[in-house]
Amino acid sequence: MSEVSAKTVMGYIVSAVLLFFAVVFALASAYDTLRLVTSAFLFLAGFGILYYVRTQKPMQITQKLEVLGKLKVQTLECPNCSAFLDISQMKIAKGVPSMKCSYCGHTFEVTEEPKW
Ligand SMILES: [Zn+2]
Repeated sequence: MSEVSAKTVMGYIVSAVLLFFAVVFALASAYDTLRLVTSAFLFLAGFGILYYVRTQKPMQITQKLEVLGKLKVQTLECPNCSAFLDISQMKIAKGVPSMKCSYCGHTFEVTEEPKW
């Protein structure tokens, strides 16, 4: 998490520097069109990085929630030893979904329907 915030701070610093130079070039562009073009480019780059930094954070939160949701679906708790078991190892015996715990060997019926 600290790495992400450091990146965000870096993004803000870089965009601030770019925008600062954009203003400097704009002020110096009175008789020079090339400087005006450079200034416009720096403005675009500065705002581009600012936009990238601002849009990155909520995206990462969404990805994290998706991963947490998947983990919840794919695991099942053993009633004997409370170990988390992989739901893909579930077997249907006589129409009843059952699990054999790979940690304590306990076999139990899966009463709770898995939520996809
Ligand atoms: Zn167990």
